[in-house]
Amino acid sequence: MKSFDLVIIGGGICGMTAAIYAARANIRACILEQQVCGGLVNWTNTVENVPSYQSIHGIDLMEKCREHVESLNVAIEEVDKVTAVNFSGDIKKITTSMGEEYEAPAVIVATGRSPRPFPVETNFPNIHYCSVCDGTPYKGKDIIVMGGGNSGFDESLYLLGLGVSNIHIVETFPSCIAAASTQDLARATGKIQVSVSMDITAVEELTDGRGRVTFHDKAEDRTYTEDVDGIFCFIGQTPNTGVFEDKLDMDHGYIRVNADMETNIPGVFAAGDVTTKKYRQITTAMGDGTIAALQAGAYLRRRRTGRSVFPEMDHAVPYGTSHPHSLPFSRNYR
Ligand SMILES: Cc1cc2nc3c(=O)[nH]c(=O)nc-3n(C[C@H](O)[C@H](O)[C@H](O)COP(=O)(O)OP(=O)(O)OC[C@H]3O[C@@H](n4cnc5c(N)ncnc54)[C@H](O)[C@@H]3O)c2cc1C
Repeated sequence: MKSFDLVIIGGGICGMTAAIYAARANIRACILEQQVCGGLVNWTNTVENVPSYQSIHGIDLMEKCREHVESLNVAIEEVDKVTAVNFSGDIKKITTSMGEEYEAPAVIVATGRSPRPFPVETNFPNIHYCSVCDGTPYKGKDIIVMGGGNSGFDESLYLLGLGVSNIHIVETFPSCIAAASTQDLARATGKIQVSVSMDITAVEELTDGRGRVTFHDKAEDRTYTEDVDGIFCFIGQTPNTGVFEDKLDMDHGYIRVNADMETNIPGVFAAGDVTTKKYRQITTAMGDGTIAALQAGAYLRRRRTGRSVFPEMDHAVPYGTSHPHSLPFSRNYR
């Protein structure tokens, strides 16, 4: 059993920000991360809305952040997924896929979201969710991008930049919701075809390694096929909260918090994309991580000394109170 003051579950931008604040307050904190630290930002080609960087590659930004965390001697455990939690006592217990056990009086859940899986059952192996990670081998090849949101269009432009020959964006709804300017940019390339009211109903692997995709054009009630080298799927995200089911209050799978990032369990905080909120961005995840770490610090001090640092603020935002960050459900804003 490894003991800390604070265990942070999830090493994305939110968890790493919380770790920086915790370490600077002399809280013995540990990050548990199922992959490598960086979260969704590692999957993002260019980030252009984080103050101080006009434009930076997502992986570079997260490397800088990780260096910052490491410089403060925060314990980081990677490639180890949290598989079970017991939040019932004063000391919270956490178990990981490697069979390690952790305990701490305070926990911050910052597990973010994962891409929604490709909705058609198939044995075609070339289905991807990250163009930064998997796009390079598709230079000179033809692909389908599933999803006509901002991600679908932005990633298509990125894939074209890698040298992909032709892209067919397929959207199930009658129109695409990506920003009009991005759609214009994509169409102007002459290499991106966009189909709306279109479903993919089957994908068959061919002997040459390509995939035969069957479409249903819902507007014309017509079925046809197209052979492609790969499929990139950008149809939204789902919260990584399976392990917290029946342990924390949730809304549509997102963890309910108040403006202090408190969950319904004292000592357990949640922050970032995994919570019910309206705007899911790097800067908002950083803000949430900051608040969660400061509140966890206040909770630990109160637990140790029986005294509050800001007694008048203790119940300023009781759990369950309606406030701007705790809207019941939110759309995928980016
Ligand atoms: C394609 C795309 C592009 C984007 N571009 C931008 C942009 O340009 N600018 C911007 O501001 N925002 C952008 N966003 C949004 C931004 O990436 C998120 O708001 C931000 O990453 C949220 O941070 P987070 O730390 O809350 O969650 P995440 O980044 O999702 O991190 C959560 C971490 O928790 C880990 N985890 C999950 N479950 C477990 C478990 N059981 N055990 C251990 N670890 C676990 C995950 O592996 C992950 O590393 C983009 C999102 C997407 C999908």
